Amino acid sequence: MESISNPQINVTKVSKAYKKLLVLQDVSFDAYPGEALALWGANGAGKTTLLKAILGLIDVKGQILVDGCDVRRQGKLARSYIGYVPQEFVFYDMRANETMEFYARLKRIGEARIPLLLEQLGLAGHAEKAVSALSGGLRQRLALAVALLADPPILVLDEPMANLDTRLRREYLGLLLGLRKQGKTILFASHRFEEVSYLANRALVLEIGQPAQMLSIAALRERCLPELELILWVADDNRPAALSCLLSEGFDAHMNGRGTVVVRVPEGRKMQPLQRLQACQIPVLDFDLEEVQIWN
Ligand code: ATP
Repeated sequence: MESISNPQINVTKVSKAYKKLLVLQDVSFDAYPGEALALWGANGAGKTTLLKAILGLIDVKGQILVDGCDVRRQGKLARSYIGYVPQEFVFYDMRANETMEFYARLKRIGEARIPLLLEQLGLAGHAEKAVSALSGGLRQRLALAVALLADPPILVLDEPMANLDTRLRREYLGLLLGLRKQGKTILFASHRFEEVSYLANRALVLEIGQPAQMLSIAALRERCLPELELILWVADDNRPAALSCLLSEGFDAHMNGRGTVVVRVPEGRKMQPLQRLQACQIPVLDFDLEEVQIWN
């Protein structure tokens, strides 16, 4: 992301191996205020490992700076800029407001922000309830409220919506988007495209054995979504010209037995063959879209 401010998180050539398993390989990226960066990858791809490295909880090769502080040398200070929501937050046998007070004391910060945060996260009406009586969605919001106690500029979340249903996930995403708009830097692990496209402006793709790759959300969409076959009906006389018009632009096109022209395209590029034919002044009479079936 182009930005005139300094990066809030700066990761340079970070590598981590567990014995012979190389989990992170020369990972480098910057994250700026107001951006949400998704760590995208299947189970075991290294998302949690990278988040733990940024929190300074594991030793890695390379350098990680959080607001200019080296997480290895100034771990405590670097962590003070981060609000962390782990995959599974452990709650004690307390009410919601007591939980907030407990963590405020632990973090040695005042309790003044507690009512505001409970209000902001829709928890004010549940403050007196025991945590064990809260629904999963409310508990997850409470974990976020705890992470926000010190009003940190950075939020790090490890698959925060993994256990929420679709409606609760959307509510939670709305809260996170609001925080991003306030200028927080958000780093979150996910393997759900819906979450990533709603909240993030970029995604760092992690795959075991592959170098990490930073993608725009549009590029991630192309990578995730299945290929389509665009079936085009053009007049019989125009069909050879339509095929050569598409082939000359590099499209994967062929004629099929039903007298149609078939073009294989990634989901995100389905308009392009139509635009190309228009540029060649070949009218398209009708079209169909079919997902390409991969049988093996
Ligand atoms: P998930 O989505 O399942 O949480 P992840 O992308 O967060 O996965 P990591 O938890 O970072 O992946 O794990 C990456 C790989 O490193 C996995 O193969 C895991 O088994 C391995 N690994 C993680 N921690 C350790 C450890 N302390 N010792 C040995 N191997 C580990």
